[in-house]
Amino acid sequence: MTETKMDSFMRLADKLERDRDLSDDELASVLLCDDPHFSDDLSAKARTVRESIYGRDVYLRGLIEFTNYCRNNCYYCGIRAGNKNVERYRLNAEEIIACSDQGYDLGFRTFVLQGGEDPYFTEERIVSIVSTLKKRHPDCAVTLSVGEWERESYRKFYEAGADRYLLRHETADKDHYGTLHPANMSFDHRMQCLRDLRATGYQVGCGMMVGSPGQKVEHLVRDLRFLQEFRPEMVGIGPFIPHHDTIYADHQPGSVRMTLRLLSVIRLLLPEVLLPATTALGTLDPLGREKGITAGANVVMPNLSPVNVRGKYLLYDNKICTGDEAAECIRCMSSRVARTGYQVVQSRGDHIRYKRDHE
Ligand code: SAH
Repeated sequence: MTETKMDSFMRLADKLERDRDLSDDELASVLLCDDPHFSDDLSAKARTVRESIYGRDVYLRGLIEFTNYCRNNCYYCGIRAGNKNVERYRLNAEEIIACSDQGYDLGFRTFVLQGGEDPYFTEERIVSIVSTLKKRHPDCAVTLSVGEWERESYRKFYEAGADRYLLRHETADKDHYGTLHPANMSFDHRMQCLRDLRATGYQVGCGMMVGSPGQKVEHLVRDLRFLQEFRPEMVGIGPFIPHHDTIYADHQPGSVRMTLRLLSVIRLLLPEVLLPATTALGTLDPLGREKGITAGANVVMPNLSPVNVRGKYLLYDNKICTGDEAAECIRCMSSRVARTGYQVVQSRGDHIRYKRDHE
């Protein structure tokens, strides 16, 4: 890249840092600029912002993948209903509670219950699991990631004690959403769910896959605009990774470097947001999660699921951490984080809300 071209990119990074915003075209050029010097500059700015708010702390969320049954057929996902080659499993309430007890002893203060949309887990069963978890560990945050429900169900889960909810929007472009999902899944309903979750009182996490089939940079710009408007407490992003039993088996995976740039841009657009360095990032690059933290992420989600089911929650191929015991996962994660100069902390790691200029 010529020096003048590089200068103009550096000026964009300065502008993003100063204004916490850029035009659509500017955002697109930032995302597409694959020059390592530029990415380093963006990361350094993102780190400064994140350290000014969260210091050097990295929050832990203990992920319990409690069912891989799913009624949906998202075209990119390995555990979609139509995949007959999946060995299905579900943990019962006692097993879920046992995972959380073990996690608690290891220092976790947030549990994320994630699963497919499994009809066995009715509203009543989820309510009962959440309230048991909260009674046993009242000092912990419980996060649900169990897909699309109606507002009334979200309210019941919340009243049972769920504090947070993760529901990635996947893509903020309705047509693009339509190409990634079958016709019985609705972009409008997913967006409605996010609004309902917010209105119910949850701390909400949304997010998108990076490099999903058919994604253009304009879609990512739309995702960023949606994030700015919705202002979620958390944004989970990770590269798309093909799964061999889907129609996208031969599609190329999302770019790690693009994901890292996006993490930095999101940190600069939404300084106080919680940003996980995801397993998908660690799957595509052995140092992906460390690079994510260096690029502005401040959350990691080690797996607490029992080892005998780990290898069955496979949304994509080659997923890492499918063989280790929870204790080993946390040891590994702590030392990975420590090597970046940051430290994992044993707190709930709540989202910090700053008074915004217009409030
Ligand atoms: N059923 C829940 C949980 C979904 S799994 C829900 O609907 O919210 C969590 C996330 O994994 C998904 O939201 C999706 O963004 C991601 N994911 C699914 N398949 C993937 C793939 N092939 N590559 C990368 N990420 C994937």
